[in-house]
Amino acid sequence: MVRGWLLDLYPLEEGTMVVWIKCDDNRAVRLVDSWHHCIYVAADQKSLLLDLLKRDEIRDFIVDWAFESKFESIVDLERSEILRLTLKDARKAQQLAKTIQRHAPFDVYRIYNVDVSPQQAYFYEKELFPLALVEAEEANQHVRWKVLDSIEATDYEIPSLTSLKLRVNVDKQLKLPSFDDQIKSIQLISKKGEALTIDEGSETDKILSLVKTIRQLDPDLIHTDDGDTFTLLYLIRRAEVNHLQDQLILSREQDPLKWPKKLGNSYFSYGKILYKPASQKLYGRVHIDESNTFIGSSCGLHGLIEVARLCRIPVHTALRASIGKCMSSLQFYNATKRDILIPWKPTIAEEFKTVWDLMVADRGGFIFEPKLGLHEDVGEIDFSSLYPMIMAKKNISAETVSCKCCQDSTQLVPEVNYHVCQKRRGIVPNSLDLVLEKRRIYKELMKRATDPGLRQVFDARQASLKWILVCCFGYLGFHNAKFGRIDAHISVCAYARKILLDAVRIAERNGFSVVHGIVDSLWLKKRGAGEDDYENLCEEIRDELGFPISFEGIYKWIAFLSSKVHDQIPVLNRYFGIFRSGEVKQRGIETRRHDTPSFITRFQEEVLQTLAKSSDLQSAYNLLAEALQILRNYSNLIREGRVPLEDLVIQRGLSKNLDEYENNTVQAIAARQLQREGRQLFAGQTISYIITDFYSKNPWNRVLAYELITSKTRYDVVKYLELLAYAASTILEPFGYARERLEQIVLEDLHQISIA
Ligand SMILES: [Zn+2]
Repeated sequence: MVRGWLLDLYPLEEGTMVVWIKCDDNRAVRLVDSWHHCIYVAADQKSLLLDLLKRDEIRDFIVDWAFESKFESIVDLERSEILRLTLKDARKAQQLAKTIQRHAPFDVYRIYNVDVSPQQAYFYEKELFPLALVEAEEANQHVRWKVLDSIEATDYEIPSLTSLKLRVNVDKQLKLPSFDDQIKSIQLISKKGEALTIDEGSETDKILSLVKTIRQLDPDLIHTDDGDTFTLLYLIRRAEVNHLQDQLILSREQDPLKWPKKLGNSYFSYGKILYKPASQKLYGRVHIDESNTFIGSSCGLHGLIEVARLCRIPVHTALRASIGKCMSSLQFYNATKRDILIPWKPTIAEEFKTVWDLMVADRGGFIFEPKLGLHEDVGEIDFSSLYPMIMAKKNISAETVSCKCCQDSTQLVPEVNYHVCQKRRGIVPNSLDLVLEKRRIYKELMKRATDPGLRQVFDARQASLKWILVCCFGYLGFHNAKFGRIDAHISVCAYARKILLDAVRIAERNGFSVVHGIVDSLWLKKRGAGEDDYENLCEEIRDELGFPISFEGIYKWIAFLSSKVHDQIPVLNRYFGIFRSGEVKQRGIETRRHDTPSFITRFQEEVLQTLAKSSDLQSAYNLLAEALQILRNYSNLIREGRVPLEDLVIQRGLSKNLDEYENNTVQAIAARQLQREGRQLFAGQTISYIITDFYSKNPWNRVLAYELITSKTRYDVVKYLELLAYAASTILEPFGYARERLEQIVLEDLHQISIA
């Protein structure tokens, strides 16, 4: 019997699942379970399904089949007879599904559970999850599991995992490292920072030495800076060149690294194009590519493990997955437990909508437009996790809105009057219950924890759950979500508006007036109101509406900003203000944008900190001279060429593939410079560059890709001064300093200097 934590798993030969257990005594134990993966197929007539079974090209994929009674759709009230196909090789679900589709006109066969990975299916079936504490017994090629842990647990223990950082130094022949360059040296760096360098002998010696050292040190986690996009691919290529492709084994499994079938995918998400590189998986260890992890970088290892456990998604996948993908796995689990199938492609059609429906839908969230400019003594109150709370409390889900079972339901959605199911708990609210509850407990534990290390762990876990809550609403209407549906999305919006309007009514009843409101926040004003008055108001709203709302604070002053593109239309989340505590809050301005050079961010923050010293609006005006002095100091640094280039880097995503760019946008120029040096680039990847001569007639000279800068590179003084003035105007315009005037200030000085 083995006792320990489930570290990794993957299907290997036909009909096997390999599972690695990390034991207390630091051993990693490999278990092999005989197990088969399944997909499901439905058709209007059973004869069509029987036809399928006669085909050799289908039979080649399967070891077994059976008819099972399942809910084909999430909205179905009755079970249907569905064909289960048991795969020989768990890794070929997609291939089998495509083969079935190829042999019949579109829509004859409806295929299910294809997108559930074998690992997820295994987790769901065995009630397992990543880093679960288990006891396992191997007998007759089967593993018997005893789970000593649960995903509800908030005080679970994580084993100490050993880790190494892998870094490869390339003997560059050109400006950029290329797969044709030889390996200069390889470094393995321990958690404590001790580095082991492999730099002796031929390239073959270095690769073999790496393989041997990894085997000896046997880490659970291997970190890389860019393993998915460069380091591991480079090692694979170098191993091939040296005829060592069968010996490049960094996994615990004796399986060499292989070149991926495809390097990556560009895809659309919320109107933006993003790029996802193919992942380089290690078997029996976890490969953490630090540049290719959203959850890992925003919530740390403890947040990542919380999400992986809760959503029953392998750590390797959770590292690279979007929050939406993780959350889907949680919903798939809940659906599977109810015998509901998971569509291969989204199938729930939107219901027909009247003009009124569409108008209501387009209005989206609650909006109370602010009067632009400066306001004094404004207080802010925010509903906490309003949208997920509505989904959970009002039971909003794809199958509960306008359900077939409760035509006479007494619960009607405001404005749109859809009825909501009163008999069944929806999959989406069902999945959210645990997330909301666990987050509440972690926040409690955080307050009570006396050990700062422990407090950090709880904080990381609650923060990762917050991401799920933030994203879950968008997913409800997202067309790729399996259990999403626009009517459910509309219903949540309608409830949210109703709740905000009710809150406004309660505030007004108590003598407050509304300055601004958006989605789940209200900015209020009442002469002479103190913190107690706001706290009391929040309590009244909580009691009356049943949704938690919290008091953020009273601002000494706050500026609501217009959009910089259309001056008259306020962009709803562009503001900055100073709380009475002296704390600065800013949204939608340069400091919060990822593409702002760090030099500009620092400048804007310094100006805000200076204004934060004010006690009221009048004294803020008195600090303007100081703010303008900061502007002059920063513009001097730019002019004198004293700003380090890395502080001026601008990062932008490539919105399309390079050959699709017709105009010479600066991103396209920088990308072409990299391409000329041999770098392959795809839509959605991020490009970093410095502006070198923005107004040059020769587009090639306008910018320089950051990877190509040399000691001779000079930045464009005028353009960076303009950017500085622009950022200054965001803060100072409400105080009467328009951009033109600030530009004059920074450029006039420049003029004087060039004359001198
Ligand atoms: Zn119902």
